[in-house]
Amino acid sequence: MSLAELRAEASKCQFCGFCEYACPTYKTMRMRHFGPRGRINLIKNFDGELSEAAYIGIMTCLVCRACDVQCPAGIKIAEVIHDFKAYILEGKIYKNKR
Ligand code: SF4
Ligand code: SF4
Repeated sequence: MSLAELRAEASKCQFCGFCEYACPTYKTMRMRHFGPRGRINLIKNFDGELSEAAYIGIMTCLVCRACDVQCPAGIKIAEVIHDFKAYILEGKIYKNKR
């Protein structure tokens, strides 16, 4: 997906949090940016810069897809995070060093 498509997909998020219950990294870390809701909303609101915490949150997604079946909005959560991660790894998105 293009960056615009990723943001359009992420913009369907209703912030219900159902996806968090299925996420192994959220269960372990108990912080929103380590869960699908936090990751999707980070992409939804992405303004060209990533904080260190946001960067770590995105990069630690396991792409296990456990969240996908929980989402009532039908967001392809794992695919969106995976493709956003690819943008980072391709150097198209830069981490804010702050
Ligand atoms: S794909 Fe990523 S966000 Fe979704 S449940 Fe797995 S680790 Fe969590
Ligand atoms: S389940 Fe879907 S709509 Fe609900 S918070 Fe997660 S990504 Fe957003």
